[in-house]
Amino acid sequence: MLEAHKLTKLFGPIAAVHGVSLKLEPGNVMALVGASGSGKSTLLSMLAGLTDADEGEVRLNGERVPGPSEVLVPGHADIRLVHQEYQLMPNVSVRENITYALRFFEKSYREFRVDELLKLCRLTEVQDRLPRQVSGGEKQRTAIARAIADKPAILLLDEPFSHLDLPNRLIFRDLLVDLVRHENTACLLVTHDTSDALSTANSLGILRDGRLVQFGSPKEVYRRPATAYAARMTGPVNILKAKHLPTLGLSGVDNPEALLCLRPEQIQLDDTGLQGTIRALFFKGSHYEIDVELSRYVCLRMLSTRDDLQVGQLIGVKIAGESIWKLQR
Ligand code: ADP
Ligand code: MG
Repeated sequence: MLEAHKLTKLFGPIAAVHGVSLKLEPGNVMALVGASGSGKSTLLSMLAGLTDADEGEVRLNGERVPGPSEVLVPGHADIRLVHQEYQLMPNVSVRENITYALRFFEKSYREFRVDELLKLCRLTEVQDRLPRQVSGGEKQRTAIARAIADKPAILLLDEPFSHLDLPNRLIFRDLLVDLVRHENTACLLVTHDTSDALSTANSLGILRDGRLVQFGSPKEVYRRPATAYAARMTGPVNILKAKHLPTLGLSGVDNPEALLCLRPEQIQLDDTGLQGTIRALFFKGSHYEIDVELSRYVCLRMLSTRDDLQVGQLIGVKIAGESIWKLQR
């Protein structure tokens, strides 16, 4: 188990990471989501023992993970960090890139393990190609195979989705599930793009300006985001002020300036509901995203699979009061 206790990293006067504590357990995938510059890479680097913390500490199974200034060779044998740039050896094949990580093992085990990794990471077909001759997704999977080759306890992934096209994102998602099941690895991934994190992770943290501002299951954080930032980081959302509730046919306002959140899928088309005008329609393949203007001040994004809607059309919508969630400021 990997534990971070109140980790802080300062760059000059600015705390890139501020008092972050977390626990990562075998067989689990944790995702941390945050905007660019929120401290994701710095945090991972400290967790891997590659950046010295200014305060706090990292422990693996109870033992302190030393920072780079305390050891001759920075890093920890049981913790692997896969960077955004995969840093593969360009002049040797996919197979040899992975084999290199096992160079100290006996040959027959090495060959067996490499075959196993190629299969796990869906690389068997491209094993003899050079990194430049494979796709981005295959490069990434090579980097992951190499990182997990000698069965580290902890795998840290920096923005693993960001360079992948949709088919490769899906392959990667499946790979993570297989990996955690097959190898019992503890996996922490950081990302700025959440939809993949929601479906992949067992737990989800929201990182803002170096602080872990919310933590929970993906469902909890998605449905009960603490702040507008957490709500926006976890998917499409309508943020409105409490004083506009009457426009939605709802009452119960204590503080008129309080922020409320409402997910697009919680709004239904209903002829008997509130009347609004379609202001925009976005075709998304499986559905449409629709902007419905309910008043001068309230325009809501919703979803529908209906194919007969048009901009300018009057429609009725229904919102269940309990699907509206009050945010902290
Ligand atoms: P993220 O990975 O979430 O985009 P980073 O961890 O890379 O964020 O950076 C967090 C903050 O720390 C940013 O404001 C960044 O500019 C700053 N930062 C990162 N590395 C350094 C560095 N080596 N020197 C000074 N500032 C840095
Ligand atoms: Mg980064």
